[in-house]
This record gives sequence, C-alpha cells and structure tokens, in this order.
Amino acid sequence: MTISYPSLSAIQTDLQQGKTTVVGLVEGYLHNIKLNEHLNAFNEVYGDEALAFAQSVDEKLQRGTAGRLAGMVLAIKDNICYKDHQVTASSKILDGFKSVYSATIIERLLAEDAIIIGRTNCDEFAMGGSNETSYFGPVKNHADHTKVPGGSSGGAAVAVQADMCHAAIGTDTGGSVRQPAAFCGIVGLKPTYGRVSRYGLIAYASSFDQAGPMTRSIEDAALLMEIMAGADDYDATAANVPVPAYTNELKDTGKKRIAYISEALTSPGVAPEIKELLSQYIEKLQADGHVVEPVSFKYMDYVVPTYYILTMAEASSNLARYDGVHYGYRSRNATTLESTYKKSRSEGFGKEVKRRIMLGTFILSSGYYDAYYAKAQKTRRLIQEKTLEIVRDYDFILSPTTPTPAFGIAEIIKDPIVMYLEDIFTVQASLAGIPAISIPLGNNKAGLPLALQLITKSFNESGLFSFSKYVLELAKN
Ligand code: GLN
Repeated sequence: MTISYPSLSAIQTDLQQGKTTVVGLVEGYLHNIKLNEHLNAFNEVYGDEALAFAQSVDEKLQRGTAGRLAGMVLAIKDNICYKDHQVTASSKILDGFKSVYSATIIERLLAEDAIIIGRTNCDEFAMGGSNETSYFGPVKNHADHTKVPGGSSGGAAVAVQADMCHAAIGTDTGGSVRQPAAFCGIVGLKPTYGRVSRYGLIAYASSFDQAGPMTRSIEDAALLMEIMAGADDYDATAANVPVPAYTNELKDTGKKRIAYISEALTSPGVAPEIKELLSQYIEKLQADGHVVEPVSFKYMDYVVPTYYILTMAEASSNLARYDGVHYGYRSRNATTLESTYKKSRSEGFGKEVKRRIMLGTFILSSGYYDAYYAKAQKTRRLIQEKTLEIVRDYDFILSPTTPTPAFGIAEIIKDPIVMYLEDIFTVQASLAGIPAISIPLGNNKAGLPLALQLITKSFNESGLFSFSKYVLELAKN
C-alpha cells in the first residue's frame, strides 16, 4: 500500500480515528522508499530504528502523552547532525563519520515525537544547485527522471515529492531549500538569518546558513518552524526573539502591498513560462484588490557574484577543519603530516568543493582581500539596504524562485557560471538575511513543477505563511 497525506493534521485525524498507526505510517513510507530507490534520494534509511520509535509514539498516543509532531515522519538532509548517526554532507571526506551530538533543531523535533526515517542526499557540503556534486551520485526528479531535483537539498525535496516521508528538513545558504522545493512541487522556507539555531549543522557559509522546512502544506511548515525556531545557548547567532504561534496566525490578513522585481519579466535569462506565471499572479493579486507594483532592483547583476565571493571565502575557512587528522577520511598514501593534509583533502573533496576552497582562499589572501572580500562585504551591505527599503515600503516581494523549471541531469553541471546564475532569485534574500518562501503553483505542459517566491522583512515568517496560504487558495480559483 502506498501512502500519501496532504498535511500532518490529516495524518493526526487518521491516527485519532484509528484508521492508521504510527507504525503503519512508517511502514508505508518505507514501502515508498523501496519503490523509489532508483531516485537516490536517501544516503541512509533508518528502517528498524524508525519502526521502533513509531511503536513508542503509538504507545504515547494511547496514554495521551504524545508530542505535537506525533505521526510526523521526517527526512533530514545529510548535513544535520543526529547523535550516533552518520553525517557525511554527501562528501567522501566524511564518509563513515558518526556524529557525537544532535543539532538543536533535531533535539527539538524529537522532543515533540517526530520520527526521523533517514538522511537525504545533497550536493557535497551543500555546494550546488542540482544535487550533482554529491559523492553518492545525483538524485532524480520524481516528476521526470531525466531532470535534476535542484539542490543542494535535492534528496530531501524528492523524498517529500515521492512520499518517502511526510516532510523534510533542509538547509539554505543561497537557495538550497527553496530551489529544490520549486523543482519538486513542494513548499520550502528559508527563515530569517538567526531565526533557527545553526548548532549541529555542518557549516558551509556561516553568515548565510539556515535550516528550513520542506513540506506539502503551509500548515506543516508553520508547525515545524514553531518547534525548531528560537534562541539557543549553543548558537549566539540564534536570535532571542520570541517565536510566534505560527499555526494560529494562518488567517487572511487583508489587502497587501506587493513589489515585483521588474527585471524578472524582462530578463532574457528567465524562461517564458516563468514570466507567464509571474504575470498571471500579478494580475490575479491585482484583481483581488492588492497593490502590486514593479520595482527595479539596480543591483540585480551583483547579487550572484557577491554571494559567491562571500560564500566561497567563508567555505574555505569552514572547510579547513577537514584535514585528514580530526575527521573522517585519511589518505592511505600519505607519509608525512603535510602529505596527510594534502592527500586527504585532494582525495576526499570533490571537484566543486575544491574549486570553492581554492577560490575562497584566493579571495581572502593578502593583496586580494580588499579587492574581493572587503568589496563584496560592501556590496552585500548595499544589496541588503536596498532590499530592506523595498520590504519597508511593501509587505512582500514577489518573484520567481528560479529562472527555469528543473533542468536536465548533466545539462549545465559542466559550466559553473551557468549553474551559479540559476541562483539569481534566491540569493537576494540570503544576502539580506531576510525570510523567503517558495510556493508550488502547478506544473508546466511537460509536467514539471512551477513556483513563485515571496520575500518579506526580518522575522515576518508569520506574514509569509498566512499570505502563502492565501496565494495557494487563489491558485485553486
Ligand atoms: N546553489 C547555491 C550554492 O551552490 C546555494 C546552495 C545552498 O543554499 N546551500 O551555493
């Protein structure tokens, strides 16, 4: 029997009515995982363990002591630490490495009785937008096996898309939750920087990284955020801002002022069907009484280069710890300390990660630091200020999530510049540190999912959820 639920509340209704059990749910998802093995979404499945947890949640449900996530079967991206489980960031350099502690978000999800069914494939160290840089091979899009699922949280997106779990947790540095969500027809949120603790995430670029929910409904994303978000003694960048009861705030909040980036409708890099989708929603929203206006974002050409200069610099520093001594892979061909470093890193990292470490090291090197790193910091500030101005004047920015629907496997991986340009619409919110959500809005003629993105001011996740819910209702009309 295959299993598919639109939301956790539908699952919990079935549990209450005795139509299923948590064990039954886990069995259903494990069945779907088996059926879809060829998609390569999981790096590891915790079959027996998930069943044992499910049994204990069923018992808690009977006693009336179960947490709010009873019945939630989650997959986690393989760059989030889960005590006593392997975590590899889909890299050879961490193959076989076991985590000695759990990320704060994992602790919080488990405390509410979520079940973790496995860890999902991703781009190596979350560096990529197609899941093709993974040491464990590419993931296939369930809508079309010749297409990528997006990345870097590609396995997580496909796991939800193909009902191999009910929801997933990904991480987003410059679009890695939103872009695969868009390519796979699900909801994906990148929270405000600092909304969610980064403790226990494998760092890529620390001033950008955030974990976020990948779900089939806005309600589920809101609930997962309610549980994951909030201050954490282990992460000083996790803001001490109260976490609203997002799930109670999912109501219609009236007429809004919405800006859309005019370049999205004129740029030759944006596919006609994406432009059409954006125009269609501009009209729908206007017809429903919202103010929707074009704004020109004059720094659009700078967002991708600024993002890559800064993230490569941060990555080169964060990845210095993988030296063949402290963690994971150590080359057998090394004879001295220096050759241990050199050979372990040369053999352990893949091509894209090496490219970024080398470029990042160059960007930070003396003589070039001011020209690249310092300049990109200044540009980030300008992009942030201008973006914050827009979200002060308007409730939301509406844009495509991606310039094209899912592209072909092996189609653009050979040209990193083309691949980086795929991030044109997602990196703006990442540079500004503000929240953004990708919402699924149907399929194109070839059956590939299409999506739009909403961006808003810091800590207004609540506004994003309620308005996204409204837009999804609008989509039905
Ligand atoms: N595609 C972007 C990159 O390669 C985003 C990745 C991410 O958000 N982790 O950096």
